[in-house]
Amino acid sequence: MDPRQRLFLIALTLLVLATRSYGITRPIKIGAIFHKGDEDHMSAFLKAISETRYEHLAPVFEFIPLIKYIDDDTDSFKTGQITCELLEEGVAAIFGPASPHTRGIVASIAARYEIPHIEYVWREKETVQAEMEENKISSMTINVYPDSEMVSQAIADVVDSMKWHRSVAIYENNEGLSRIQKALSVKQQKDNSISNSIIIRQLDDGKQYRPMLKEIRNSSIFNVIIDAKDPEKINDVLEQAKEIKLLGNYSNFVITYLDASKLRIPEIQNGTSANITGFNIKQNDVENITLIESAILYEAVFLLNKAIETLNSRNTDNDEPIRIDPVPLSCEQNQKYQAGPNITSIMRELSKMGKVTGVMNIDEYGRRRNFNITILDFRPDMIPIGYWDSNGLHPVQTEKDRESYLYKSIQDKTFIISTRVGAPYVMEVTDGQQRGYLIDHKYYEGYCIDLIAAIAEQLGFKYQYELVPGPYNGLIKRLVDRKSDLAICDLTITRERMNIVDFSLPFMNLGISILFSKPEEKRPELFSFLSPLSTDVWIYMATAYLGVSIMLFLQARMAPGEWDNPHPCNADPEELENNFDLKNSLWLTIGSLMQQGCDILPKAPSIRMLASMWWFFTLIMISSYTANLAAFLTAEKMDAPIKGVEDLAGQTKIKYGAVGGGATVAFFRDSNSTLYKRMYATMNEVRPSVFVKDNKEGVERVLNSKRTYAFLMESTSIEYETERKCKIEQIGTLLDNKGYGIALPRNSEYRIPINGVILKLGEKGELQKLKKRWWQENGGGQCKKDEEVKSATSELGIANVGGVFLVLGVGCVASLIVAIFEFLWNIRKVAVREKITPKEALIAELKFAVNIWATKKPVKIAKSSGASSLEGGLGRAASTARSIVGSFLRLDMLDKFDKDHNTNNRSNDRKIN
Ligand code: GLU
Repeated sequence: MDPRQRLFLIALTLLVLATRSYGITRPIKIGAIFHKGDEDHMSAFLKAISETRYEHLAPVFEFIPLIKYIDDDTDSFKTGQITCELLEEGVAAIFGPASPHTRGIVASIAARYEIPHIEYVWREKETVQAEMEENKISSMTINVYPDSEMVSQAIADVVDSMKWHRSVAIYENNEGLSRIQKALSVKQQKDNSISNSIIIRQLDDGKQYRPMLKEIRNSSIFNVIIDAKDPEKINDVLEQAKEIKLLGNYSNFVITYLDASKLRIPEIQNGTSANITGFNIKQNDVENITLIESAILYEAVFLLNKAIETLNSRNTDNDEPIRIDPVPLSCEQNQKYQAGPNITSIMRELSKMGKVTGVMNIDEYGRRRNFNITILDFRPDMIPIGYWDSNGLHPVQTEKDRESYLYKSIQDKTFIISTRVGAPYVMEVTDGQQRGYLIDHKYYEGYCIDLIAAIAEQLGFKYQYELVPGPYNGLIKRLVDRKSDLAICDLTITRERMNIVDFSLPFMNLGISILFSKPEEKRPELFSFLSPLSTDVWIYMATAYLGVSIMLFLQARMAPGEWDNPHPCNADPEELENNFDLKNSLWLTIGSLMQQGCDILPKAPSIRMLASMWWFFTLIMISSYTANLAAFLTAEKMDAPIKGVEDLAGQTKIKYGAVGGGATVAFFRDSNSTLYKRMYATMNEVRPSVFVKDNKEGVERVLNSKRTYAFLMESTSIEYETERKCKIEQIGTLLDNKGYGIALPRNSEYRIPINGVILKLGEKGELQKLKKRWWQENGGGQCKKDEEVKSATSELGIANVGGVFLVLGVGCVASLIVAIFEFLWNIRKVAVREKITPKEALIAELKFAVNIWATKKPVKIAKSSGASSLEGGLGRAASTARSIVGSFLRLDMLDKFDKDHNTNNRSNDRKIN
């Protein structure tokens, strides 16, 4: 049967019923206008009308429904005509229509003829006031549907409480759009950034929403507001969203439909972990009424009924009773319905008392200002999580309930954890053992693997890792796309990242610093003992030595005090001699230069003065040399070309870079400091690129670049590397202060529990232990050993003083050569004197020389006998002396004795003569 025919039949039945009633009940016509698609409303209306009859035991009035039906819900002209027709039939009130296009004309006719006009659908706020001001009449319209502005506010409050970041709003028609507009504008005002944008999409007329939903999914938006009039349409959208996997992890849906119990949410949501929030306006459940508007219409009929009854009972006490029974009116005349204004005012009055339908609080503008919306959550069953009234949003779930639900859900969940390989956070086990955690058929271990294990143990969740290749932000992308639940590695907490994901509390603190290779240790030079004085000074010193020695020699010849009597026993010597011949002068000066002194000392004042000046000179020179020698040998090691980031920025020889796309580069890029900005610009310009793919590559580049590349790296990673690679070191202090954290999808509820565990691990010292384990142990401390060895041998090595030994050696060899020459020279003299062949002399002397037990040297008896008796006698005396003095007396002294003896002979000869 055609719905129109069906309705007609119902109306007819009711009319027959009405005519059967007689006596005290007075029929009173109630008009209603419906359009195509309003069938549900119409049957609710008729149901209500018929049920009002059983409200009272002896009803005074009996409602007679007068229904007008217009196909076209945009035809306001026809609707106007129909309204006039209703007036002509004499109606006590008009319900509807629901269409926004035709309701205006009805409202204004009702206002003009003072017929109560009752609406039961969403009505935009502006239209109410605008119409009333325009017509300068008080409105006869009462809208029992919750006030639009307040419903918008409720939606806005709920959406706001979700703290969404990016969202999409799906609406069906303009009415829906205006309903969610407030939520959108509130959000837009709060976070005025592009990244917090809201996308708005309209539902197609057809039933295919997949393309639109796919588009939403591909843009990684997981927060969706759905506003549609028809619950079936909402179910369809949700079902299709589930099919295309938009209804997945961390996706949030808010369904603005005011009766969520009419939706199949629990069934659709089953098997997904989406978070769906629904609304439910408190309304009496009426059998066979599915739409929220119909339910409201149903109750409004009772409110009207009660109002008319109330007016009637007041009439009995009134001297001038108001005529309630409507009279036929005409749109051509000005006659009004007398009881109209009273009925509406009593309806308002009753709505405030809540006697009929619960407190509605309809105001002078006919707006329903009081209603209560329950906010529902569907995980896993439909439970109220809060309610909304004119005072705002009130959560009903206690913190404890929420917490216990959360902890339970954590234990049922298998977390997908994104990570990336990087020492010592996550490293492949390469020694073939089965330690750590199995990811893609390989075992991995490290600080982060241990940390996650500790957190999982505390919270009792299961987990699986996925390795994300590429830059660090790839991990963030996985979270944004809701492909994983956590991301952990040496992932720095930055403001930029915080805009799109959440971070746990930091589990490690660090800052940016410079990694650079240590200066190459210079091989100690052989003649490093010469370094304290420059070559010039050495030359000047040698010159001074020679100059002073010659001066000494010459001045001594001039100074009378230096001429001594060679034989003090002889008071009247014929000759005087001078100690300071050239040889002795050189000996004195070198002796004092070497701080050894000399047994020949000057006596003449001028020479003493000269000598003391030389001693003064040597004192200062030698002290300066000694002092400088130590400083000079250590200074070599402290040769560092850069001491901090300023030095790095102020030069071009050493290039510097960082991990491409990492937090360090972002620090330089976003910094306000001109120095850092300039450094960023420099890094960008340099070719080949100074950016590397990870820390490992950066460290290798520093090691291989021979001090032409410095790597800007995070201090914790620097610490790890410098524990193991002793050729590199950290230069300067930290440029900033930040931390590594575990990243989670935005608004992830797991953040709080994870934070709790991180704090606990920190307080118990577990984090520190873990750090020690992966930094110091497991191959750390390499360079400490090196340094210990070095500090133990910080004395000078043979390499440092080798030159001194060399000089000693060369000196010894030179003295040996001189000794050989002296020896040979003596052989020659012995051969001549003893008249033997040089060979015989050599053999004799050598034999004696190697016989080290012979401490006395026998004198060779001269073979010649031709010497004078005196000479012979003296010669013998000399030989005897030789034999006494033995080998320790130098032969040349004996020669001197010979010479003296000859001279004496000559002087004796002279005296005799
Ligand atoms: N930890 C950094 C990040 O999360 C990467 C390394 C760096 O930039 O120095 O991006």
